[in-house]
Amino acid sequence: MSDRKRILSGMRATNPRLHLGNYEGALRTWVRLQEDHKLYCMVADYHALTTMGDLPPDLARNSREVAKDFVAAGIDPERSSVFVQSMVPEHAELHLVFSMVTGLGKLERVPTFKEKKDDLGEGRQVSYGLLGYPVLQAADILLYRPFGVPVGKDQAPHLELSREIGRSFNAAFECEVFPEFVDIINEDELRSKLPGLDADESGTLRKMSKSYDNCIYLSDTPDETAERIKGAFTTPTKLRKTDPGVPEGCAVCQYLKLYSPDWEAQWDEDRQGVRGCMQNKKELTEALNEFLRPMRERRALLDDGAIDDILRRGAEEARDFAAQTMRDVRSAMRLV
Ligand code: ATP
Ligand code: MG
Repeated sequence: MSDRKRILSGMRATNPRLHLGNYEGALRTWVRLQEDHKLYCMVADYHALTTMGDLPPDLARNSREVAKDFVAAGIDPERSSVFVQSMVPEHAELHLVFSMVTGLGKLERVPTFKEKKDDLGEGRQVSYGLLGYPVLQAADILLYRPFGVPVGKDQAPHLELSREIGRSFNAAFECEVFPEFVDIINEDELRSKLPGLDADESGTLRKMSKSYDNCIYLSDTPDETAERIKGAFTTPTKLRKTDPGVPEGCAVCQYLKLYSPDWEAQWDEDRQGVRGCMQNKKELTEALNEFLRPMRERRALLDDGAIDDILRRGAEEARDFAAQTMRDVRSAMRLV
């Protein structure tokens, strides 16, 4: 078994396609971390079920496609274990154990539970699974007894709850099965909250999110990327090239900052009214398609058979580790 420090990372399989925000906010960090850590890279299919309502979509397809995006984005299946949550039954087992050491009040107070419950609306059933979401998340993480977990700023409270659940287990069974882990927070402001292609009613950029349908998808073709950029939000008062732009509030300029080496000159010219939005969009399309090219090349090599092999191997490696944790858990609980 590898002696590199372990990292657990994951994403829900609520959609078959990951977007540029998912890459900048999460995947980019994972790809960097796998250089000197052992990365367990999970597609969370059980988690997708907590908010998907009553019509189960094709989850297996979602999981496969998300895994393809992981590998296309640069997760190396030779170094990292890429797997689907439900293929490692120890996640469900540890979830059950943790449910015994987690107070109900604590779960009811989780802000995302209240929000999601309200989103479901009157008369809709609130499932036990929705309430228990953070318990499953704690199991996902602690099963690998990781050194750290990469996370967006908004998820920090969930991770605190995972740590508390680990501590509760250790206290209840007078053991040290679950050591503390650290949060690896993405401090890059633009990348950790990448704006989408549109703006809200007040003309302010908002987060790229599949719920807003304002995304550039990692699996888009170069032409699709070009089309999406054509429709992107720019300075609303810049109707002609000579009108001054406000790059801070323009989606295209924000992306230029990330993907174009010449962005500072481009921003100056945009502000001064010597460059138009069309030119920005054209140059962004070139820069972004260049950036996405290696991802597209890797993705082209991945058919369903190839990704299934990767996921099978990944689940075996994950189970090797998870099974040892469960042996220690059972022994601490005197189940055996
Ligand atoms: P939903 O609309 O269902 O919430 P989403 O598009 O916001 O979906 P998530 O599945 O919530 O995507 O997020 C998966 C991961 O990607 C999380 O780590 C999250 O922090 C990150 N992420 C999502 N959107 C962005 C974004 N716009 N910028 C940076 N990171 C993002
Ligand atoms: Mg989200």
